[in-house]
Amino acid sequence: MTFLPILLFASAFIVPPPPTGADDLTVQVVPSWTKLTSSAQSMRGRTFPMEGNAQARWRCPGTMELPVKFADNPIVRASWDINCDIDISDRAGVEFDFWCGDISQFSQLRFYMRSGSGWYATWPFAPDKEREWCRIRIAKSDLNKEGKCLGFDKISAIRISGWRNGTRDTVIGLANLSYTDAVAKKLTKAELAERDRKTLEWVKTLPSASGEHRAFWCHSAFGLGGAPDKGWDEAIRSLKDNGFNAIYVNLAWSGCAYYKSDVLPPSPQMAGKGDQLEQCKAACRKYGVELHAWKMCWVTGGTNRSDGAVAAEAKRRGWLQMNDKGAELPHALCPSNPEVLDREIEAFVELAKKGVDGIHFDRVRHSGTSTCFCRGCRERFERKIGKTVASWPADALPGGALAKEWADFRAESVTALVREVARRVRKEAPGVKISAAVFNSPCSDREGIGQDWTLWCREGWLDRVCPMNYTVSPLLLKSMVEAQKAAVGNVQLVPGLGISLWPRGVDRVRTAAEQIMVVRNAGLDGFIFFNHNVWNVRHLEALHQGPLK
Ligand SMILES: [Zn+2]
Repeated sequence: MTFLPILLFASAFIVPPPPTGADDLTVQVVPSWTKLTSSAQSMRGRTFPMEGNAQARWRCPGTMELPVKFADNPIVRASWDINCDIDISDRAGVEFDFWCGDISQFSQLRFYMRSGSGWYATWPFAPDKEREWCRIRIAKSDLNKEGKCLGFDKISAIRISGWRNGTRDTVIGLANLSYTDAVAKKLTKAELAERDRKTLEWVKTLPSASGEHRAFWCHSAFGLGGAPDKGWDEAIRSLKDNGFNAIYVNLAWSGCAYYKSDVLPPSPQMAGKGDQLEQCKAACRKYGVELHAWKMCWVTGGTNRSDGAVAAEAKRRGWLQMNDKGAELPHALCPSNPEVLDREIEAFVELAKKGVDGIHFDRVRHSGTSTCFCRGCRERFERKIGKTVASWPADALPGGALAKEWADFRAESVTALVREVARRVRKEAPGVKISAAVFNSPCSDREGIGQDWTLWCREGWLDRVCPMNYTVSPLLLKSMVEAQKAAVGNVQLVPGLGISLWPRGVDRVRTAAEQIMVVRNAGLDGFIFFNHNVWNVRHLEALHQGPLK
């Protein structure tokens, strides 16, 4: 009798039984993980779905099934916290078996471990295959800290998160969470040389293609680092020599420009180095490479924080963003502030008239769901909906009484910039291309970060859109690109590939070549890599002997 309910319940599971565990002696299942079973006692206080998500189920002891509810459910991510004690202070990392019913529903999968009030976070991971158990390995050395972590010996929970890319329900499975010492070891010089030789041999067999938009983002306004011998001429020549035909250069923020501007103050970094737009443009003309001027939106300056005076002025004028706790963000400007909007528009229009081939929006979004709750945003929101908000900001936060109206307001405040810049540039600088770097999920970016980029495509305000598809997984890249293709209409889709952002140890030439082939096989005619710098230049020569001939 006691087995009957379990048998009946078992038939409802979708995830198949997992592998029985690794034979490798360096791998050991985490003891507290094996205690997780379907009994109520085991579940209580252990598994915490994020708001809007369904409770985890236990396929068998130590194996969980996580029902992903994306159909008719506005959640941006499927996420669960599972309490279990982990100590990897003497181990190289953890590994686990992962099963995914439908990878196309996710734009990103991530694994975290909680320690104290902070989290150890991984680079997004992806399985090699769908509907098969795949082993995922997380090296301790690849973890980043978010918040205040107490140490690798005091991990109290894991978190598994999948960001929405689709509108269908699916299921993921998680099993055999294990300690491991079998992480990828650093290759010796000789091993590395052998790997690179084999990669080059394979890369040379790949076909090239004509008529592609082959581009790089360049985060530095000074080309390859700004050293006297590595300025714009070398930066552009290295692209041209290796089969690229466009560069997108970060020449402006909201509080500074790296060229002579009547709208934005000059960057203090420019002193003694001259107008970077003119220098870059001269090199682009010389080598026949398109120049697209990339401007950050609603953020005063770069990570160098040389924008103190500008940030102080923004604070004085009441332009700073405020989060839901009432704290001002020192470098971020309020997207719904009309004075800020005017300046952003004028800066883009001025840029478009400087003889560039295109202008490029970046960070054209809100910081997250927790901004902007400044006084001005509240006033403008209340004016838009025609009533006062009873409980601020609670009513506007996810799950609040006015969450939908607030999401519309946030998205519209961002859209207003793109729409007006497009209207002005089409008239005042016709022929200049308009593009944007965007997050990668057509169905959740509007709600999550107020970035309604599929609308900008449908309305024809953009000529080209570059979703930041920063994954190493060809499977996930393919699924992202397919969802994006369906959303962009006639606008050129140019996927952003994160060569600088891939984790340590990744064979960058092989991965770049694989991803170029994924993009081509999807029927697309362009891609853009992040980021053009001295470290990546050496990979380009190898690609030039294969898919970029
Ligand atoms: Zn605001």
